[in-house]
Amino acid sequence: MEENKNELELIHSKALEDVANVKTSEDLQNVRNEYLSKKSKLMSLMASMREMTKEQKAEFGQIINKIKTEIAEKVEAKKEELEAKALNAKLEKEVIDFTLPSRSYSKGSKHPFQMVVDEVSQIFIGMGYDIAEGPEVETDEYNFELLNVPKGHPARDMQDSFFINESLLMRSQTSPVQAHVMKAANGVGPIKIISPGKVYRRDDDATHSHQFGQIEGLVIDKNINMGNLLSTLQLFVKKMFGEKREVRLRSSYFPFTEPSVEYDVSCFNCGGKGCSLCKGTGWIEIGGAGMVHPNVLKMSGFDEKEYQGFAFGVGVDRIAMLKYGIDDIRKLYTNDKRFNKQFNRD
Ligand SMILES: [Zn+2]
Repeated sequence: MEENKNELELIHSKALEDVANVKTSEDLQNVRNEYLSKKSKLMSLMASMREMTKEQKAEFGQIINKIKTEIAEKVEAKKEELEAKALNAKLEKEVIDFTLPSRSYSKGSKHPFQMVVDEVSQIFIGMGYDIAEGPEVETDEYNFELLNVPKGHPARDMQDSFFINESLLMRSQTSPVQAHVMKAANGVGPIKIISPGKVYRRDDDATHSHQFGQIEGLVIDKNINMGNLLSTLQLFVKKMFGEKREVRLRSSYFPFTEPSVEYDVSCFNCGGKGCSLCKGTGWIEIGGAGMVHPNVLKMSGFDEKEYQGFAFGVGVDRIAMLKYGIDDIRKLYTNDKRFNKQFNRD
């Protein structure tokens, strides 16, 4: 028993010395293993208790536990000391230099296409219109048939399209959104929407791109007439191109409107006197419009005797080109930052 006590005291003092000499967390782990693990010297001394009397066991066990607790406390204190040291070293190393100049980031700019969409949308939202959107991959039914363009109709040739299979295509106009909105309304008006979006046709030259933008407008209600269409277009062009602009309607043909018109705005560059922008005519063509064809109303679930409507289209690219003096439509789709930046109003 006395012998064991002496050995225990030796281990005790050696352990405290070892803990005090620890320099790294790795050293500390070794010390912990040596004195506190199941295979430690302290534990092997426990084995010697088997030969002791009951009283001796109690006394010896108490001493061992006291020593174990003390070593564990010292190890814990050392651990905290090492961590504090590591943190201080890190803080000293990572001095923040407030005099360093910051990195500069270049600011993006709104695309001229989006600028036109936003401006037109704001004008029509101000007139109480909702914005409606539809899929860019469209069925033949919505892109053509519900718009009064059955298979074999010559008007399909005017919109040479990208077909995905026999019945799916990249929409060639934003008008299919009309059919979606009308069908969802279940034959009950009023409807007052514009639908801006991208459309696709097989075209590629300085004024035609295989992808371009349209904004379609649709109003369906009772007692709607051409006068409502004209006044809407007048209000729109005055807000978009200036108070002095006039609208001119020219007779035209679209399968989904009857009667159909194309509408021009008096040239905002020369005021109507004639210049290179308006090719000397004093007028600039903006888009097509007309009264919704009774067949279109009927096919989308509206009673054509009770309801009437008008629709109009705005060419986004065309307006962007006119407004910002862009000479090639393809520049709108090549994502050249130098080009896009020129139209930033900030
Ligand atoms: Zn002009």
